[in-house]
Amino acid sequence: MSAGPRAIVAGGSLGGLNAALWLRDAGCEVEVYERSKTPLEGQGAGIVLHPATVRYFVENDVLSVAGISILARWLRYMDRDGQTADQQPCSYRVTSYNALYRGLLGCLEKKCYHLGKEMIGFEQDSEGVTVHLADGPGERCHLLVCADGIRSTGRRLLLPEVSPVYAGYVGWRGTLRESELTHKTFEALREAITYHVMPYSHILAYPIPGAGGELEPEGRLINWVWYRNVAEGSELDSLLSDREGVRHEVSLGPGEVREAHVDELRKTAESVLPPPFAEVVLGTKEPFVQVIFDIEVPRMAFGRVCLIGDAAFALRPHAAVGTAKAAEDAWKLGEAVREAGGDVEAALRWWEPGQLQLGRKTLARTREAGRRSQFEGCWKVGDPLPYGLYEVGDSSMS
Ligand SMILES: Cc1cc2nc3c(=O)[nH]c(=O)nc-3n(C[C@H](O)[C@H](O)[C@H](O)COP(=O)(O)OP(=O)(O)OC[C@H]3O[C@@H](n4cnc5c(N)ncnc54)[C@H](O)[C@@H]3O)c2cc1C
Repeated sequence: MSAGPRAIVAGGSLGGLNAALWLRDAGCEVEVYERSKTPLEGQGAGIVLHPATVRYFVENDVLSVAGISILARWLRYMDRDGQTADQQPCSYRVTSYNALYRGLLGCLEKKCYHLGKEMIGFEQDSEGVTVHLADGPGERCHLLVCADGIRSTGRRLLLPEVSPVYAGYVGWRGTLRESELTHKTFEALREAITYHVMPYSHILAYPIPGAGGELEPEGRLINWVWYRNVAEGSELDSLLSDREGVRHEVSLGPGEVREAHVDELRKTAESVLPPPFAEVVLGTKEPFVQVIFDIEVPRMAFGRVCLIGDAAFALRPHAAVGTAKAAEDAWKLGEAVREAGGDVEAALRWWEPGQLQLGRKTLARTREAGRRSQFEGCWKVGDPLPYGLYEVGDSSMS
């Protein structure tokens, strides 16, 4: 057993897994408690990679980035008729949530990852933290990392005044097999991240690995996201009420969105989208909805407890670095614990300012992109994308 601090990570998604791995490698004994009873695979869609997202694989030489991702060579804008309106060379690598989750999980000892374990509270004293799970006795640790996402229990307990702020729009999302596309649509979207900008809305699509990690066109998927404004109140309530009438807060998964809303999406797609985009939307059996929120915290470190990833800053997807930000928080946390020789409180004091600054800057950039696209309608064909973590452009990977 490691002689270093004992760390508990609440939340076993991409942020939590990164934290567990970097902390383990910094000498900690780690346990990950994930609320979901089943592995998180199968629920996600596309993720644009950033060097931070794959740092664990690269630095430890455990997984080839080319083996889990597809190179998008073009940033393409499509006009209303489906013709290329502008295209610039780029080198973004795109993958799926599943591929990253599976890769990170494979680097962690199985006995450290516990499904069906919900953190419901904690208290800390000068020696450590007692973490309470929904079932079972309190667990002691020296460091508690709350990587519990947009509706974080850790954040609610530490900063009850901070709540998610609805951005005024949602992302309709979906995937379908590339092999199901017509030849014309396949060619129109080929090797690219393709955008179509409309007044107060935009849609994008790019290929991602198939559910089993397939990288060849026969097995790959096309991932699309269509940002659409939905007024808060009855309009949003109706969209987010599932087929059983249950109102969701953050997202509705495939098969949960009511038929009336899916029908409306399809009809609108036919009338306003370029034919290739209309084809992918209409061809998607069960489109799903992700509500776009901003979350911004004034603090991330609280003695021996910290917030990372979406629990601290939920970034709008326009900069494509939500996952990268969570991974960066985790990597820097591991570095801090190592530098501090295992002194957890000193490590968190050193770690916090840089991560707060990064979160604030990136959130501001994603808000600006959303404002321009969804409310000012001034995002133009050919405009550079705001992709990047520390600065625009740093997501490029050859
Ligand atoms: C299933 C899934 C699919 C996703 N798909 C995509 C995608 O396709 N594209 C994309 O860009 N982003 C996606 N995301 C979001 C993206 O992964 C995150 O923005 C990013 O990785 C930051 O992750 P995070 O670990 O901070 O938070 P999240 O990924 O939200 O993970 C938080 C985790 O904490 C768990 N949890 C919550 N409360 C508790 C608790 N009290 N105790 C224990 N565990 C708890 C949740 O079940 C969840 O697994 C997805 C997230 C999930 C969970």
